Amino acid sequence: VLSGRGLGKRYGVTTVLDRVDIDVAPGDTVAVTGPSGSGKSTLLHCLAGIVVPDEGEVWLDGERVDRLSESRRTALRRDRIGFVFQFGQLLPELPAVENVALPLMLAGARRGVALRRAADWFGPLGIDGLQDRRPGQLSGGQEQRVAIARALVAGPAVVFADEPTGALDSVAGGQVMDLLTGLAVDTGAGLVVVTHDADVAARCHHTVSLRDGRVVAGALSTQEAS
Ligand code: ATP
Ligand code: MG
Repeated sequence: VLSGRGLGKRYGVTTVLDRVDIDVAPGDTVAVTGPSGSGKSTLLHCLAGIVVPDEGEVWLDGERVDRLSESRRTALRRDRIGFVFQFGQLLPELPAVENVALPLMLAGARRGVALRRAADWFGPLGIDGLQDRRPGQLSGGQEQRVAIARALVAGPAVVFADEPTGALDSVAGGQVMDLLTGLAVDTGAGLVVVTHDADVAARCHHTVSLRDGRVVAGALSTQEAS
């Protein structure tokens, strides 16, 4: 469903990504690990059409993402991609259910339909009853579950998560990670998750380890990651 080929990205004289290859099949879960500054977030941003790589190709469902115009990339992010960040991604003034409904409404769904479909995700994510809470009234783990619902609600081909459990303790983080991988597999979406956590990486089908922007061979320990 998604592949990156020979991806390169430079900022000034610094090479942040160097000939990175990555493949994500439907229902596949791929962990991206590596030390701070090794290019993990940049790789996700290139794959998600947020940043255009200087070299290489990004393909999503047969479409060459890095060649699309800015507006087509924006549309692709809205229609085909879900994103979960570390924290602080929900709109604080909107109830949880409206945060989840947002991608559907942006895609043109009627408000009532969008809110009903959004509410359906709260049960599977173990946050039933919290639909009307605002983000400030949720725990970190609950907030991440709402963010996962929002990333999945529009049926994306690929979900990207950049340290989605980084702000949680290991128990809550493990639960959130299980939900994320389980739901991605169930819905047939590919999942690419950046993590510093070896346990999280171990829950994924594949691991891509970066060092100084390059994929390092073999499954390196993520313990040394900062
Ligand atoms: P962390 O684990 O700390 O999140 P990371 O592996 O996600 O790190 P990136 O955010 O991809 O690392 O950054 C890789 C390198 O690229 C870093 O040296 C960073 O300073 C640099 N970088 C990232 N974005 C930009 C930018 N917009 N302009 C200039 N340099 C950037
Ligand atoms: Mg990062």
